[in-house]
Amino acid sequence: MTITSVCQSFFNGALDRCYRLSPCLADPATRSSLGLKVALVMLHLIYVGILFLFDNHLIDKTKQDPWYIALYLLLFIATLVQYFVTSGSSPGYVLDAMRALNEKNAVFAKASMTAKQSVSSKDGSLIVTMDESQLGRNPLGSNVTSWVKLVLGMYPPGTSVRTLTCSYCNVEQPPRAKHCHDCDKCVLQFDHHCVWLGTCIGWGNHCRFWWYICEETALCLWTDILCIAYLKANIIRAWWKDAIMILLLVILSISLIFLLLFLLFHSYLILTNQTTYELVRRRRIPYLRGIPERVYPFSKGVCRNLYEFCCARSNIYKLERLPTAIEIEEKSRPHTCLDFLTCRCC
Ligand SMILES: [Zn+2]
Ligand SMILES: [Zn+2]
Repeated sequence: MTITSVCQSFFNGALDRCYRLSPCLADPATRSSLGLKVALVMLHLIYVGILFLFDNHLIDKTKQDPWYIALYLLLFIATLVQYFVTSGSSPGYVLDAMRALNEKNAVFAKASMTAKQSVSSKDGSLIVTMDESQLGRNPLGSNVTSWVKLVLGMYPPGTSVRTLTCSYCNVEQPPRAKHCHDCDKCVLQFDHHCVWLGTCIGWGNHCRFWWYICEETALCLWTDILCIAYLKANIIRAWWKDAIMILLLVILSISLIFLLLFLLFHSYLILTNQTTYELVRRRRIPYLRGIPERVYPFSKGVCRNLYEFCCARSNIYKLERLPTAIEIEEKSRPHTCLDFLTCRCC
């Protein structure tokens, strides 16, 4: 046995043990997602670490003005916590929504069955008779049918079930749902698949995602200010420290511009009740074809959209029906002065 084969078998054995200890590492998709998460945390730690290591004035400020630094560190921790919370949250999978409906139906069927139970007494013992049709020979089959009925009810009459069925999950997609090839699942109100978070952004976690971008932007801006304050301070220091700080400042400023644009873009989507996917692929999405560009078919007005996005998140499996032709026509009507006075857009 050569040294190479011994090394190879040792390496393979160590890798197998590693996979047994953490099964998530065996999947290449999870592995890359894990690597990105580690990289993101490291990037945050390096930035803050360099800042505190180079800037002695910042250490003095911690003693003089502890609240200022405490707030900064609090934002730093909150951003990382929000990152992991968003990353671990469900975007609202169609299959989960179907299962939730199945459970709801099962509970409802059980309750109605109990109510229909005819209870008679014979020699002091209870005889319970159940209605066979209530039980159903194939409860899953009946539930699947109720899901199909529910989904079909959200589309215009005459829509074929075949056109709504996802060829990968074999499940009927409600409006605004899309199959994600990275997650290999259909997602409700699909926005996009975020590589940095390693998850999809959909109805279930869009609000958390917005808060994460918001916190990341605030942290980036604050760190930018601290970097500028360090460079502007009239203290004699090594040139290489200045060079590193300028490099960090340039990267931070570019990231800040991107984050701000991203935050504004997602705020616009929320206010108009759109998703990134719907905005980018508007002409290719069947249910959006033929709708004028400036018309937002799912918008219920700025205030209502904002309320539903922020406050009506108790149900993570929200299903939205397609607007009718009359509703689209109403939305296409140009705004008059009276509309602005009566807050039609709100
Ligand atoms: Zn699918
Ligand atoms: Zn995905």
